[in-house]
Amino acid sequence: MLDLAIIGGGPAGLSAGLYATRGGLKNVVMFEQGEPGGQITGSSEIENYPGQKNPGESGFDFMSTWWAQCSHFGLEHKWGTVEQITQNPDKTFSIKLVGGEISQAKAVIVCTGSVPRRAGFEGENKYFGRGVSTCATCDGFFYKNKEVAVLGGGDTAIEEAIYLANICSKVYLIHRREGFRAAPVTLEKARNNEKIEFITSATIKEAYGDNSGLNGLKLNTPNGERDLVVPGVFTFVGLDVRNEILKQDDGKFLCDMTDGGQVKVDLKMNTNVAGLFAAGDLRQDAPKQVVSAAADGAVAALSALSYIESLH
Ligand code: FAD
Ligand code: NAP
Repeated sequence: MLDLAIIGGGPAGLSAGLYATRGGLKNVVMFEQGEPGGQITGSSEIENYPGQKNPGESGFDFMSTWWAQCSHFGLEHKWGTVEQITQNPDKTFSIKLVGGEISQAKAVIVCTGSVPRRAGFEGENKYFGRGVSTCATCDGFFYKNKEVAVLGGGDTAIEEAIYLANICSKVYLIHRREGFRAAPVTLEKARNNEKIEFITSATIKEAYGDNSGLNGLKLNTPNGERDLVVPGVFTFVGLDVRNEILKQDDGKFLCDMTDGGQVKVDLKMNTNVAGLFAAGDLRQDAPKQVVSAAADGAVAALSALSYIESLH
């Protein structure tokens, strides 16, 4: 029986693992399906983590030291995808992995974060991975000195458009409204970048191509239809929380959720189920920042320590 299971190894899970092991728990396992680090490892740069030594470094480089620190204090990484968490009659938890393996734990912190949302235009799925991408650092280089499009008006879209403008000959920034969610300072940077052309109040009607991949986009704009001949489009239209592991066989969730599918927590990251905690992008009202995810993880671990102590 594990003392504590942490599901997800992004900033929230790693921070939870650090505080739990350094706080004295010996039997802590972090279940992570990939390399630890989370979604920020796909970001071209991060510059808003307090005290950061190299502002502007890639998310991958930024996260590269976190796992080593956790491992030093005894956190174990179990590679695997968690399929479902259930509660046992004795109030402990079962963690079922894809493939059938089951682990038991006295307490669980769920830190499964979020994933890029699909925009829903025609051809998006057909050309996904063949011209349609959600990761500029992964795929931007394929379009060196070529023209590409970016879809979205949030921080991610604008930051990644600026990143792509360093590689590509031109970036068309397509956004469905005139107003932007992105931070004004980031937006100003993009507006001052002569390689970025803003196409606002516009949507993608269709992505078209052939067997070799995407050839272009048909847009609906206020001036009518527009054809963009681009081999790549990067879509950054928000995130969906990964809550599926909390779904029970009867279709209900293990703990209380918001209408948007985020886990309801109190200020100590307690869910309404004793011994079950949630941290990071997955929890209600998450600011969706590395610093807040890390802070949540620390808070959740401290709460888990108290909870496990109370069982003795
Ligand atoms: P995540 O980072 O999403 O980590 C969740 C982890 O759980 C993943 O590693 C995943 O593999 C794992 N996981 C999920 N489900 C399972 C499962 N069933 N079994 C096993 N493992 C599972 N924030 C900033 O503060 N500054 C920025 O500059 C910034 N830039 C960003 C740029 C981009 C392109 C993106 C996408 C995000 C950016 N963010 C930024 C937001 C930031 O990355 C997130 O808020 C933060 O990573 C959330 O951390 P988390 O630990 O909650 O979740
Ligand atoms: P986001 O803030 O939710 O923005 C999504 C954008 O996509 C919005 O402009 C939205 O338009 C648009 N959109 C949504 N669905 C669409 C569709 N089907 N078709 C076309 N456009 C669509 O998402 P995000 O930019 O990924 O950011 C997620 C969170 O991470 C935010 O909280 C953000 O602040 C944070 N983040 C922070 C940083 C940073 O701190 N530097 C960097 C990246 C991300 P509308 O505006 O019209 O709804």
